[in-house]
Amino acid sequence: MRGTDRRALGVHRVLEPPGVLPQAALRLDADPAIALDEVRIAVERLNLDAASFRQLSEAHGGDGDAVRAAVLEIVRTRGKMQNPVTGSGGMLIGVVDAVGPQSPLGLAVDQRVATLVSLTLTPLWITDGLAGWDGRSEQVPAHGTAILFARSTAALLPDDLPDAVALAVLDVCGAPAATARIVERTGARSVAVLGAAGKSGCLSLAAAAAAGAEELTGLVRNEAEADALRAAGLADRVVVADATDPLAVADAVGTPVDVTVVCVDVPGAEHGAVLATAEGGTVVFFSMATSFSAAALGAEGMAADVTMLVGNGYTPGHAALALDLYRQNQGVRSLIDPRVRHARPGDPRATA
Ligand code: NAP
Repeated sequence: MRGTDRRALGVHRVLEPPGVLPQAALRLDADPAIALDEVRIAVERLNLDAASFRQLSEAHGGDGDAVRAAVLEIVRTRGKMQNPVTGSGGMLIGVVDAVGPQSPLGLAVDQRVATLVSLTLTPLWITDGLAGWDGRSEQVPAHGTAILFARSTAALLPDDLPDAVALAVLDVCGAPAATARIVERTGARSVAVLGAAGKSGCLSLAAAAAAGAEELTGLVRNEAEADALRAAGLADRVVVADATDPLAVADAVGTPVDVTVVCVDVPGAEHGAVLATAEGGTVVFFSMATSFSAAALGAEGMAADVTMLVGNGYTPGHAALALDLYRQNQGVRSLIDPRVRHARPGDPRATA
């Protein structure tokens, strides 16, 4: 559904400032009462995006109670989970609780779903004080309600995967889809992924291979990650460098590649990514810690003729592609599974 149907975009939920879409709003109305075209989700678990969680955790010195309090305060004051520093959010899973008769999403009460729109634009109401979360992981057991608009997207949760895995994979499903699309469209042969042992990074490597790229370089930040990535067998070459050190990245990658995908969860990877990319090549900035000005002005300052893409979290078919890459690829599973911890005790779908 296209066009500028204001209600479909959720504009009626914006409290402040007037005239912006929900993603840019300072405050949303998170009232659980739904309009005719909305859907209410009974929330089970949030997935804070990696850049946001890292920022919150570092800002509070790893104090889980303080991180939990900070998240609660953000949701209480903003009516949504949008980290004011990183600007990013995450996504959630839950059960469809109520469906307005004019909702076009095709959802039915009691279906278990993952929202595929960002928490930064999803009206969210937390009712349990996040009591089941220790504040030390990206995944947040939560009770409350979330609202989907007519133009939101959601995916039915797969039966064959633990919830925590599905949530983690779906949170970053835009990265493999964007990687596959650019490799297919440009016929790229060589691809480098920065942050290659992370969730979006390993999925992007697998997607690049599936899309026909033949020379895959995975850049990781230490030998432990290098060992894990080598064992996963997803890259032809594994190199170790700090992605925020541009010259180290350029040295590590060596001959510039056709496509560079930035999947780290820290700021400062823009210049290394540009240096690692061949003239006429493409950089996909999936990281939420990316600075537009650092990327644009840095590339200008290097006289680098590269196309720079913002990793759009939405590409048609992105959820199914990412879940299939996880299912079909032992290497992807070996890197993602250890990162998916803190699943709800007693949840039969949860990972160990
Ligand atoms: P992740 O699983 O935590 O992976 C990030 C990887 O980057 C980790 O392996 C991390 O290593 C590595 N890393 C961190 N600093 C590094 C450095 N200086 N040099 C080299 N490697 C470094 O994160 P993710 O879930 O894949 O998310 C990656 C990024 O995508 C985040 O910025 C997230 O916010 C963003 N994101 C974007 C969208 C979108 O729609 N565009 C959607 C969701 C998420 P350690 O584990 O050792 O720290």
